[in-house]
Amino acid sequence: MTRTSPQGVDLDCQRCPLARSRLQVVPGSGDPQARLMLVGEAPGASEDQGGEPFIGRAGSILDGALDEAGMSRERLWIANTVRCRPPENRTPRPAEIANCSFQLDAELGTVAPRVMIALGATAASALLGRPVSLKDEAGSVHRIRRAELDLRCVVTYHPAGIIYRPSARTNLVEDLTLAWELSQG
Ligand code: SF4
Repeated sequence: MTRTSPQGVDLDCQRCPLARSRLQVVPGSGDPQARLMLVGEAPGASEDQGGEPFIGRAGSILDGALDEAGMSRERLWIANTVRCRPPENRTPRPAEIANCSFQLDAELGTVAPRVMIALGATAASALLGRPVSLKDEAGSVHRIRRAELDLRCVVTYHPAGIIYRPSARTNLVEDLTLAWELSQG
């Protein structure tokens, strides 16, 4: 019998080759009635082992940025574009993101947020359906329709990117604050 998360994520999914190298499918986590959903790229080694998104080094950076913005992950839903760790943490391929979109749609359908925030160019490109350059579009707000929801989507930097570009931390905090305010309006 197939196992699913409370939000309908298929925990035994075999739809793409990432199933062969993962330890486990990583569903989203947080407040199941959150108004704001954060979407990152893919699980890394810590997430693959622990079964939760953003619990490694990038997760620590995200927690710090959320704290600075006066927020906490308990009030959000946090997920990724793909739910299985790509080998050697490579960027997920467009076909893998497309295959995995049903998992995000399942969570969107049950959590029903008002606002999404795309963490990094991969997530932003996946959510907006076109290539996104953070240099040009970080901090921008878009309207999207997905899983029968009318959503606003804020584009920002991925917490892991802050390791190599510390100056972007200010942008991340500002964009998290903006997304939170939009979600509460
Ligand atoms: S990445 Fe998504 S589509 Fe591919 S096997 Fe994992 S859960 Fe299934």
